[in-house]
Amino acid sequence: MKKYKCRMCEYIYENEDIPFEDLDAEYRCPVCGADKLMFDLYSFDLVIVGGGIAGVSAAIKARELNENVSIKLISNESAIYNRIRLIDLISGSVSMSELLLYKADYLKSLNVEVIYNKEIKNFDFENKMVDDIKYDKLIMATGAKPFVPELDVDKDKILTVRTIKDVIELNKVVKDDAKVCVVGAGVLGIEVAAAMTYKVMSVDIVANGDRIIPRQLSKKGSDILIRHLKKKNVEVIFNSVNLNDYDYVIVCTGVRTESVDKLEFNRGIIIDSQMKTNIKDVYAAGDCTEYEGKMYGLWSVAMEQGELAAESAVSEELEYNGSKFQTKIKVAGIDIFSVGDFDRETGDIEEVTESDKYYKIVKEEGKIIGAVVVSDNNKAMDILSEYRRG
Ligand SMILES: Cc1cc2nc3c(=O)[nH]c(=O)nc-3n(C[C@H](O)[C@H](O)[C@H](O)COP(=O)(O)OP(=O)(O)OC[C@H]3O[C@@H](n4cnc5c(N)ncnc54)[C@H](O)[C@@H]3O)c2cc1C
Repeated sequence: MKKYKCRMCEYIYENEDIPFEDLDAEYRCPVCGADKLMFDLYSFDLVIVGGGIAGVSAAIKARELNENVSIKLISNESAIYNRIRLIDLISGSVSMSELLLYKADYLKSLNVEVIYNKEIKNFDFENKMVDDIKYDKLIMATGAKPFVPELDVDKDKILTVRTIKDVIELNKVVKDDAKVCVVGAGVLGIEVAAAMTYKVMSVDIVANGDRIIPRQLSKKGSDILIRHLKKKNVEVIFNSVNLNDYDYVIVCTGVRTESVDKLEFNRGIIIDSQMKTNIKDVYAAGDCTEYEGKMYGLWSVAMEQGELAAESAVSEELEYNGSKFQTKIKVAGIDIFSVGDFDRETGDIEEVTESDKYYKIVKEEGKIIGAVVVSDNNKAMDILSEYRRG
């Protein structure tokens, strides 16, 4: 229940039948006579659906901002873990326990109630209930699920990589003599293919268009990465292949977010600059959101949005203007950095290839507006500081 506290005498208003917001403007504190404007939101029931990085960041931030708010974090999974490191679970370089994000009692010590293995099925915004749980404010942090297009292949051969359960299944079924193909050549597809070489002799990747990782790499950067991958027994194939020739097909063709009845939705749940959805007291953060047409699908953005959603829910003042689209990733052991509008082919462009290193800088009026760097972290850092100076 929402409670409000008088700034003058610390009297706490709590009345389930007459919410504080519904009191008329003439209301006075019954203890000291201070007027209604002297009351601050003191505590309320915050419910967060989704125990990924967006949800857990929201919970931690909400606690940091308000020690009284009651926080429930609901996840349909059995643990809170680092999704990015699922790749290392495939290659066998980490154990399951190393994947966990927090020590067992950390969230408990923050007085955050975590409810595991519970899938919320019914969102009743009118009565402010998710299944049987009541909320004053709700943060949707439900993430996304793998998108599997229609493929001409036996369904039993298809695997995906999104959850710890998916990877346990993959590790169980794929034996070392299996023929494996990855469909999709974005960051996830490349990382999965490279990790799979620790299990099987070689892996093929089926790619669309003229390059791999098209969101982060220019054509030349992509060519260099393809050469690196070949040395690691990963073959990139741009033509169509017969998927039935493989024992397993790992589909990495992007993700989709599920819509929820009454929440405004396009490709994701639409949020405004205060992380609010179209429904009062319902916020959203992370991979499930769409902000000004953008869906980021990035760990750092999910974390940032989770914290901002909590800030908005708790302090009710916030201005989000989108996240800076900058990526620094390690794909198959190779560092890739990109920022801004790097994909231009005309204008003030500096492009240098030196053995396995590569960079491209795009400038406008002498200032960097975009860049991509492969295998050269020092160059990437120099470019980033110049880009930030503007
Ligand atoms: C293998 C892999 C590698 C990646 N590598 C990178 C990388 O290098 N860099 C990068 O920036 N990003 C990477 N990503 C993407 C990154 O992991 C995501 O952007 C990030 O995890 C999104 O966090 P989220 O909390 O918004 O959503 P999610 O992590 O999807 O979490 C949402 C949670 O909500 C739960 N949930 C959904 N619906 C319900 C419901 N109704 N009731 C209860 N619980 C529910 C889901 O099961 C899930 O646990 C990678 C992703 C994968 C899978």
